[in-house]
Amino acid sequence: MGLKVVSYYGPIRLVGFSDKPTLCRMILPQRGDVYVKCGADILLNGLKTDLGAEARCPVCGYVTRFHIVKRRIEDLAPKDPTLHVVEFAMGAGHVGVECESTHIFDKKDCLTKWLSTYTGKPGSVTSLPEYMGSLNQRQPTKYHEREHH
Ligand SMILES: [Zn+2]
Repeated sequence: MGLKVVSYYGPIRLVGFSDKPTLCRMILPQRGDVYVKCGADILLNGLKTDLGAEARCPVCGYVTRFHIVKRRIEDLAPKDPTLHVVEFAMGAGHVGVECESTHIFDKKDCLTKWLSTYTGKPGSVTSLPEYMGSLNQRQPTKYHEREHH
């Protein structure tokens, strides 16, 4: 059984907090660097707090950087990274993300390479601003992640 780690940032509960280094790091004002389990976790936390983010491409290792300010993606570098995200069905107001299959790719070539050996559940391919917009529209009240062991 995995231990679920819950972390509190002031009154805000962080989504997907990891006490071990991962591909995805958030830079929170006043608290500093925090690792989360996947790229979608960064955007889900961005619904609740402004933050800086660094997401390492699982294929080439290049780091995509951006900020989330008032629930919008800003300062994206490189300009057009791609998110592959696998969601699973939950009740209304809930978002479920399969972290093992959810990554931010710095460029399309990396996504194509990764998909060529991917055998998991089919996911959606979207830009970061698009996914942030869709989260904003759904305004998830609860978040669940699937644990892998
Ligand atoms: Zn890459």
